[in-house]
Amino acid sequence: MKRIAVLTSGGDAPGMNAAIRAVVRGGLEQGWEVFGVRQGYAGLMGGDFVSLSARDVGGIIQQGGTVLGSARAPEFKTEEGRKQALANLEARGVEALVVIGGGGSQSGAYALSRMGFPVVGVASTIDNDLYGSETTIGVDTALNIALEAIDRLKVTASSHHRAFLVEVMGRDCGYLALMAGIAGGAEVIVLLEVESDPEEVIETLKAAYRRGKAHAIAVVAEGATNNANELMLYAQENQKRIGFDLRVTILGHVQRGGMPGAFDRLLATRLGVGAVERLAGGEHGVLMGLIRGEILATPLDEAAGRKKPLDLGLLEMARVLAK
Ligand code: ATP
Repeated sequence: MKRIAVLTSGGDAPGMNAAIRAVVRGGLEQGWEVFGVRQGYAGLMGGDFVSLSARDVGGIIQQGGTVLGSARAPEFKTEEGRKQALANLEARGVEALVVIGGGGSQSGAYALSRMGFPVVGVASTIDNDLYGSETTIGVDTALNIALEAIDRLKVTASSHHRAFLVEVMGRDCGYLALMAGIAGGAEVIVLLEVESDPEEVIETLKAAYRRGKAHAIAVVAEGATNNANELMLYAQENQKRIGFDLRVTILGHVQRGGMPGAFDRLLATRLGVGAVERLAGGEHGVLMGLIRGEILATPLDEAAGRKKPLDLGLLEMARVLAK
């Protein structure tokens, strides 16, 4: 093999840059030329390639986001779009592609690999919903950012006897909400995976007030049927007397933009190097992930399009502990 390419796709995740650096320097070590593709599959279809040297990926391991840029590119779901991408790869003599991204991106990787092109995926999404990796690049950092915010909200909430509805990211998956709720000691956790009753949420906050708590926190997943604003509206419309003064904080994209912590830098580095090693060994059509502490490959036909289920037993544990 002489040339490979690497791209980042879907929502950005802290640690993507560490993975790019690992793929580039690992590839150079193999004697390959490594191209970076800008803006994910949009750049792959548009021919936006740049040859990367070891120096080009210097000073990025500690940066959040992705220096290659990322995009949502619906045209890649069409065969014409992917044919255009293949033509661009072939025109540059690129023989394999590394796709750093989440579930949708790995479905794209699988679609390309089914057309005969060698692709290796790297599990990267703050949602942690990818089958084939117990945890994915960006999750740990995003979770710590959410936790820091919750800890701060608790401080001010205690001063004013307030309850906060804290909305964390996760349009399609409640992992961040569940884990931030447990680690942040929330009184209530509202997920999209479990049907929630706004009345019950309000009653739980009210009960916390009656037990003499100085504050209460409800962590709400962005994608929950009753998101933070809807819960607030319900409380207002029903003139609910909770005891606490109720406020909403939506953390939103703040959770994405942090500097990757040690865990995500190390995970991303190991996954990026793992991707190169698999390609060097002639293996492709796989997703690199962390399984029982090891960097392992799962066939894309098993991983793509398959969502990792949440451990809902943890929700019950959180409920028991929120005394
Ligand atoms: P995250 O969930 O962290 O935001 P993601 O990778 O799941 O990341 P998506 O927006 O779902 O993000 O997907 C990113 C891109 O992958 C899409 O814009 C599209 O270009 C491509 N893609 C998604 N699904 C498919 C599919 N079934 N076939 C081909 N390409 C796809």
